[in-house]
Amino acid sequence: QDVVNKIAAGEIIVAPVHALKELIENAVDAGSTSLEILIKEGGLKLLQITDNGHGINRDDLPILCERFTTSKLKAFEDLTSIGTYGFRGEALASISHIAHLTVTTRTKESSCAYKAHYADGKLVPAKPGQTAEPKPTAGRQGTQITVEDLFYNVPTRRRAFRSASEEYAKILDLVGRYAVHCSGVAFTCKKHGDSTAGISVPANATTLDRIRQVHSTAVANELIAFQAANDRWGFKSQGYVSNANYSIKRTTLLLFINHRSVESSAIKKAIEQTYAQFLPKGGHPFIYLSLEIDPQRVDVNVHPTKREVNFLNEDEIIEIICDEIRSNLGKVDT
Ligand code: ADP
Ligand code: MG
Repeated sequence: QDVVNKIAAGEIIVAPVHALKELIENAVDAGSTSLEILIKEGGLKLLQITDNGHGINRDDLPILCERFTTSKLKAFEDLTSIGTYGFRGEALASISHIAHLTVTTRTKESSCAYKAHYADGKLVPAKPGQTAEPKPTAGRQGTQITVEDLFYNVPTRRRAFRSASEEYAKILDLVGRYAVHCSGVAFTCKKHGDSTAGISVPANATTLDRIRQVHSTAVANELIAFQAANDRWGFKSQGYVSNANYSIKRTTLLLFINHRSVESSAIKKAIEQTYAQFLPKGGHPFIYLSLEIDPQRVDVNVHPTKREVNFLNEDEIIEIICDEIRSNLGKVDT
C-alpha cells in the first residue's frame, strides 16, 4: 500500500515547485496575509513556508496527512464546483509519502502551538522511542510547513535533478506569480543562508508595486489596467497588459483562473496574435490576467503537474478579452 501511495505521490509531485504550489495555495486558503518561504538546494533539501493564517486545530493533526483529508468540502456537490482542479486533500498526504514533513501550527483559540511530524500519511515520533503525539510548543498564530529531503525514498526521481539553481528559478517564477496576484498578502522567498531575498513584497503593495518588485520598474511603467466581463459566459477578468510601446523577447503571461496560477496555451496564443499587429516583429507583451469563471465551467480533471486548464466557451471568452486588449492598445499613440 505504501509503495502504491509513494508512486501516486511521485506522479502528483514531480518537482519541488509542485509541492510548493500546493503549500502556497493552502496558506492563502487559510486567510494568511504573510507568507515566508525558505529554500535549500532548489527545494530538494528544504522547502519551508510560514504563514499567519487561521492555523490547524490540534485535534485535526492526527488525520491531516491521510488522503482526502480536507476542510474545504462542505457537501458532495462541491466536488463538481470546487475551484481547485480535482486535487482535494491530497497535497499534504502526497508530500508525506516522499519527504520528511513537519507541521507547526497554532489557531487563535489555542494557548500554544503544536508540532507534528509525518511519514507515509501518519504521525510519527520526532525521534525513535518518543511518542508520535503532536507536541505543545511556542509559536504564533498560523502554520509552518517544513518539507525536508524531498524524494529521499525515490532515488530515480531524485537523480533526475541536475541543478538546484534551475529548481530555484522555477520556484521564484511561481512565488513571483502569487506575489503579484495576491493583493493584501506579503511574500518573501529566500535561499537558506542568503541575506537578500529573491522576492520581497509587503502586504500593502499595490498590484503595480508588486509587478515592479517581482519584474521591473521598466515594465510596471508601461502597463495599462484592463478589465472585461460577460454574464452570458459567466466570467469576469482584470489585470494589466503592456502597451504598444513596450516589447520583450518572450511573452510573459501571469495567468490566474479562480485565483490559481494556471496555463492556457489557447489564451497565450490568442493574446500573442492580438499583439502581433501592434508590436514590431519579434516583440512580445507582458500580461497579468486574473480570470474568474463559474467553477462549474472549469475542467476540474486537470493533473496538478499539468497546469494547462480548459473551460467552457473558451473561444467566446478569449475573443472578448482580446477585443478589450485590442481596443486598449489602439488608444496608445505609437
Ligand atoms: P486541500 O487543500 O485540498 O484541502 P491539502 O492536503 O492541501 O488538501 O490540505 C489538507 C487540509 O489541511 C486542508 O483542507 C486544511 O484544512 C489543512 N491545511 C493545510 N495547510 C494549511 C495551512 N497552511 N493553514 C491552515 N490549514 C491548512
Ligand atoms: Mg491544498
